[in-house]
Amino acid sequence: MAERILIIEDETKISDFLRRGLAYEGYKVEITNDGETGLKAALDNVPDLVILDVMLPGLDGLEVARRLRSGGETPILMLTAKDTVSDKVKGFESGADDYLVKPFAFEELLARVRALLRRNKPVDQTTYRFADLALDTKTREVSRAGRKIDLTTKEFDLLHFFIMHPRQVLSRELIYDRIWGYDFGGESNILEVYIRYLRSKLEAEGEARLIQTVRGVGYALREE
Ligand code: CA
Repeated sequence: MAERILIIEDETKISDFLRRGLAYEGYKVEITNDGETGLKAALDNVPDLVILDVMLPGLDGLEVARRLRSGGETPILMLTAKDTVSDKVKGFESGADDYLVKPFAFEELLARVRALLRRNKPVDQTTYRFADLALDTKTREVSRAGRKIDLTTKEFDLLHFFIMHPRQVLSRELIYDRIWGYDFGGESNILEVYIRYLRSKLEAEGEARLIQTVRGVGYALREE
């Protein structure tokens, strides 16, 4: 059954960004835009995880966390705008389990979400394979039929996203969201540039193309 995540965040740019990404990962996502509604939603129908912004109209995030914590064990991931020690301390004192400073990359958020939900669950997969391609998220090693391939951080992140979703068409928007974050301009051609880098490294010895262009939409990891 899908795990349920409640987002309490008044900035729609961020809540939409979170919903798109988390729904894509298979989570059931509910969004509320202020502290009171969020708290009520969390108490009425207890979610598996709460993503909570600190700065909210009305009841602020710290108060919501405090009241939630007194009522149960739902993990709370707090979003904070400022990287100040006092905010972090307050976040933990109020009962947040982890915090993330804005702006953040989706991958970072997803890692925190998974870690918080993972308590009492088996260890995550670390090696992914597709055709003759292998990628290890722990050692960050990539190879094709045993040939080692050196990738930059961004190239690795991009390939990691593809290999976690083999054969699926990934839209340009989704890839930008995931790899470059919500503050990134969608008119850029940086994605095309990175696809070109990746292909040239993956096909350096004449291997078959694995990252295919899906015209007008995006890209997919699949065999020709
Ligand atoms: Ca806010």
